Amino acid sequence: MTDKYAVIGNPIAHSKSPQIHRMFAEQTGQDISYEAILAPLDGFAATVERLRKEGYKGCNVTVPFKFEAFKIADSIGFEVMDAVESGHEADAVNTLVFQKNKIGGYNTDGAGLVNDIAKNFKIPLKDKRILLIGAGGAAAGVLHPLLEASQSPLVIYNRTLRKAESLKKTISQHEKFRHFSIKPVEFGKLGNEQFDIVINATSAGLTDSEIPLPPNIFAPGALAYDMMYGRETPFMKFAREHGARAVDGLGMLVEQAAETFYIWCRVRPETAPVIAALRKQP
Ligand code: NDP
Repeated sequence: MTDKYAVIGNPIAHSKSPQIHRMFAEQTGQDISYEAILAPLDGFAATVERLRKEGYKGCNVTVPFKFEAFKIADSIGFEVMDAVESGHEADAVNTLVFQKNKIGGYNTDGAGLVNDIAKNFKIPLKDKRILLIGAGGAAAGVLHPLLEASQSPLVIYNRTLRKAESLKKTISQHEKFRHFSIKPVEFGKLGNEQFDIVINATSAGLTDSEIPLPPNIFAPGALAYDMMYGRETPFMKFAREHGARAVDGLGMLVEQAAETFYIWCRVRPETAPVIAALRKQP
């Protein structure tokens, strides 16, 4: 019998997730269906309930429901999986698994980002100086896998300082991350520090907005990673013009989907051919 999955968001029409999961299913021979579902802004929990009643096995969750997904999950990362961190520290969840009487929640965004940088771009994160721009759901989801992989101090740079501070507070409450140096900095207040990896986890690219960055922010050979994909953002343009290697977040999207696919189907798909196929699309 076909196992039913979906991605829930608002908006959702742009989502590439159905295509990615169909490619994974074809590649691995898994019998699954995967569709995009638009939930009303006040109707996330009701949509999840409907899917459960209709026999779906799980779903992905995207903007703006990732924090709500955390709240409705009965358990977070209830099984320990290779390379998949629980969403607990992030308080944002992008993957739900429907079991008989409970909902399990995971966040695979962080593993997706770390895999894309380390495996696809072949850049080890250990000891790298990282600047994480943004303090929303995406930044929250990747923060702890980044710290675990880099084992080094990290700066959170956000338009609204309070949100960067609150992200630091949330993560610092966890024993595992207490000893890390995390510095929240407001837009316009970066000093002369240089970074090896600068990650744009804001949605500024959606409106072609510039991120205020000092021109010497990129260390020699730095990677500038924009989580947005599909077009060059002002951040990527700035990074290229200032000597960094600028890349988009398409690989992260495919890698996080692969982690989710593994949680659901217990099969690890090949990501490279899927990334290559998506890159060829207009
Ligand atoms: P949120 O709405 O939760 O957070 C938005 C963040 O962007 C906040 O830090 C906000 O700052 C900042 N921001 C918004 N507009 C601007 C602007 N004009 N200038 C500067 N900062 C701005 O969104 P998410 O965190 O969920 O998503 C962020 C981005 O990451 C999206 O573009 C999303 O598509 C992408 N993403 C990509 C993934 C992938 O797999 N490639 C996975 C997840 C997300 P403030 O706090 O001041 O409001």
